[in-house]
Amino acid sequence: MSDLTKMSAAQLAKAIADKEASAVEVATAHLDRIDAVDERVHAFLHVDREGALAAAAKVDAGEVSGPLAGVPIAVKDVIATKGVPTTAASKILEGWRPPYDATLVERLRVAGTVMLGKTNMDEFAMGSSTEYSAYGPTNNPWDLGRIPGGSGGGSAAALAAYEAPLAIGTDTGGSIRQPGAVTGTVGAKPTYGGTSRYGLIAFSSSLDTPGPCARNVEDAALLHSVIAGHDPRDSTSIDQPVPDVIGAARLGAGGDLSGVKLGVVKEFAGDGSEPGVLSAFHESLEALVKLGAEIVEVSCPHFQYALPAYYLIAPSEASSNLARFDGVRYGLRTGDDGSRSLEEVMSLTREAGFGPEVKRRIILGTYALSSGYYDAYYGQAQKVRTLITRDFEAAWQKADVLVSPTTPFVAFPFGSRTSDPYQMYLADLFTIPTNLYGGPAISVPCGLSEGLPVGFQVMAPTMADDRMYRVAAALESAVGTLTPPTLEASA
Ligand code: GLN
Repeated sequence: MSDLTKMSAAQLAKAIADKEASAVEVATAHLDRIDAVDERVHAFLHVDREGALAAAAKVDAGEVSGPLAGVPIAVKDVIATKGVPTTAASKILEGWRPPYDATLVERLRVAGTVMLGKTNMDEFAMGSSTEYSAYGPTNNPWDLGRIPGGSGGGSAAALAAYEAPLAIGTDTGGSIRQPGAVTGTVGAKPTYGGTSRYGLIAFSSSLDTPGPCARNVEDAALLHSVIAGHDPRDSTSIDQPVPDVIGAARLGAGGDLSGVKLGVVKEFAGDGSEPGVLSAFHESLEALVKLGAEIVEVSCPHFQYALPAYYLIAPSEASSNLARFDGVRYGLRTGDDGSRSLEEVMSLTREAGFGPEVKRRIILGTYALSSGYYDAYYGQAQKVRTLITRDFEAAWQKADVLVSPTTPFVAFPFGSRTSDPYQMYLADLFTIPTNLYGGPAISVPCGLSEGLPVGFQVMAPTMADDRMYRVAAALESAVGTLTPPTLEASA
């Protein structure tokens, strides 16, 4: 492995700006690494070698500058990239090349990043393991027999396998943070509306939030600041200045948390997590206390209803959003031989194009929204959502941020949770409350349990994204980053 693939995004940006390395060299090193290991990892659904080298050449020619000029990046395949295949890991979008870029992709280009390709995920971002990708799962670089998390497992695995220093994910219920936790990388879900949804293939529009994935907190903050900010093309985009996440990460890296109150969510700090996860979490709390933080216990009684509320709200919105995949407008069309009605072709296309988890969500959502059940299910879930938001607001009276493990368990072996959907849904037990509330949250590595990474979650009030970066960077300064196995050994 070349040293260029081991460098952080900040180091690469500096080396390229100082002309110690060319952007083409950096891109080539990462493309070669992908060639060497991605057959085993399968982080990518599509590698855009030509596009990456052309973008890098532009940086070297001085045609593109920006804070991340020449830094390679991998983008989750649920995000529209002009002319580059975008499938959301679904058969129904096989071969689709969007005619436009998502806002965040435009911003990545302006910042000078070099897109290497599109990463694997659970189909339409529904899942926690990438096992629901229509193109086969991604393998966790820490143990190729285990899941890399999901839905954005490809983005997280690309970082852990040194195939890219930066990646983009989307977090509807935990799909940035949970893959970050189980791959020993950093994943941040910005405040809802803090990053634009324009050009995301919609899953649950009131929850979907794109955000940064990186191998350290400062890199995540650098990427966050590049993609965040108001976008008039997204009706729920927040028209306020982006919090100073880079400054906060650097402040936190100084290792002083005096006066910062960390609220430990009582309901998430006890039973329900693996013992190794809990001990890494509690050791991290002790490390943060040594840096001057104060621990307060906070009760959030409605968090226990977050999972069931989410699994009504998200599928309801998904059932409506996925109606657009009708065999007419995009991608796959099945059975259109002139003998069938439009409805029959639509139905055959959706039958052939969607995988079982996506179908389950559409059926669940359609049922929850149907007249007669709307009040009992969807309406009730929305009320619970309000109660969860109130729990957060009450918590901010006592604490600056809330903390918990990111996930109750470390990376699990393939096939161990697919037979029971509820077991899969449990992976997001601790991440979902934040999505229902809309605030920001970050997962940062905090140690190992049985040789596998454990994530520490920091949740903050809406538009206080800087606060979570400060605490995450302080924790990183105390416990260090994790170094995944290099994969060479098994070559
Ligand atoms: N695992 C959750 C789900 O399956 C969250 C997905 C996400 O954040 N995109 O819905």
